[in-house]
Amino acid sequence: MGENDRDSFRHRRREMVERQLRRRGVADERVLEAMGLVPRELFMPKTRRRVAYADGPAAIGCGQTISQPYIVALMSELISPRPGKRVLEIGSGSGYQAAVLAACGCVVYSVETVPRLHRLARSNLERAGLLKNVHLRHGNGYAGWPAEAPFDAALLTCAPPEIPGAILEQVRTGGVVVGPRGRGGLQDLVRIRITSEGPEEEYITGVLFVPMVDNPSD
Ligand code: SAH
Repeated sequence: MGENDRDSFRHRRREMVERQLRRRGVADERVLEAMGLVPRELFMPKTRRRVAYADGPAAIGCGQTISQPYIVALMSELISPRPGKRVLEIGSGSGYQAAVLAACGCVVYSVETVPRLHRLARSNLERAGLLKNVHLRHGNGYAGWPAEAPFDAALLTCAPPEIPGAILEQVRTGGVVVGPRGRGGLQDLVRIRITSEGPEEEYITGVLFVPMVDNPSD
């Protein structure tokens, strides 16, 4: 990538932050700054880099997608990312969502079930210089990451029919779980607050994510 390409990506990234995020109501300055810093083109397949800042999701291989920038920003905002927050992510995919949270200062623990995508996330994050605060594991996200619990927040980037109990249990009281829930069709993006009286759920909007698979071979 030459100097001109880098400038043009930087320009498109700034436009994306203004038009797709700020204008639609994303207000957390930390999230906006992180979205303006992380080079999304490095998380796209080479042939798709020129559309890295388009207003939609994109294929990353293995039938999976990197979410639309707005959805990444919205979900990041919903967990109130702050420096030092420990965040469990289910579905590393390209590594882009993890990169945005790491750029917000979070320490991210991300689980991915497809080995090739687990490796892709690692190499993309390394290239972007953001691997330091991201821990990656190959495995089935339905189990969460018990050895690293408790987390301050959990973020699902694939849709289970119900939010797995193991994930709710691995988030501390006062923390939140954000993710899509549903089988096929439009899913509910929900934010669940873990309170001393139990989980409290809030509906955010309708979304379309890939299903969270339950792979017994993991
Ligand atoms: N956060 C990613 C988006 C990934 S798409 C990004 O920013 O690019 C959803 C991902 O969830 C896919 O990579 C898919 O393989 C993964 N996935 C699906 N079911 C899973 C499961 N049970 N455990 C862990 N990851 C899963």
